[in-house]
Amino acid sequence: MKISEIFESIQGEGINAGKQAIFLRTAECNLKCTWCDTKYTWDWKNYDYAKEVKEISIKEIRKLIEQTTIRHLVITGGEPLMQQDDLAELLTFLKPEFYVEVETNCTIIPNNALSALVDQWNVSPKTKNSGNLLELCEKNECYSFFSKQKNCYFKYVVEDDNDLTEINNLISKYCLDKDKVLLMPQATTKSEIISREKIVSKLAKDSKLSYSPRMHVSMWGNQRGK
Ligand code: SF4
Repeated sequence: MKISEIFESIQGEGINAGKQAIFLRTAECNLKCTWCDTKYTWDWKNYDYAKEVKEISIKEIRKLIEQTTIRHLVITGGEPLMQQDDLAELLTFLKPEFYVEVETNCTIIPNNALSALVDQWNVSPKTKNSGNLLELCEKNECYSFFSKQKNCYFKYVVEDDNDLTEINNLISKYCLDKDKVLLMPQATTKSEIISREKIVSKLAKDSKLSYSPRMHVSMWGNQRGK
């Protein structure tokens, strides 16, 4: 598989924020968000592919994950579903021992093999503020699939109140369960999170949605492997 990094940390975002986890970060992404905090997984104009991407066998990845004492795995990227067949094979070895969360950008539908092995989907569809063309980041069939999954949470990256109209329209259009929608500040540095966390938490409260922190950014800024 094409892997960016494997490391132990705490889950900084979403409904499991604060839990100890082992992170498997896959390389490559099919979007290009301007504010992406992991450009080293896909931006080969500014990062060196040979240095950033490790091609590791499923057997070796399994060994690296199993040698830790943590049994909570977060698969993130990049876009993990670009390698979903390999992920499904990896998870056949790790389940049921591990609780598995997968972060995805809502542009690829997971296959049945992978779906059966994932405990929790953290779906983060991108909106206009990401700088991607809308036809690339709003995939009707993906929204439709994930909105029907009981183990799925939607997490939107928010800069300011201008984003709320678009997000509320998406919630209505795809009948998303508001109890499972989180707003998270757009921030890659400690100063950005400080300037946005109060604004975004108030927007979440006013919209009757949940707020997601970015604990890793609050604690470590843009340091990698944290
Ligand atoms: S979808 Fe995620 S990994 Fe891909 S460019 Fe956007 S923020 Fe980065």
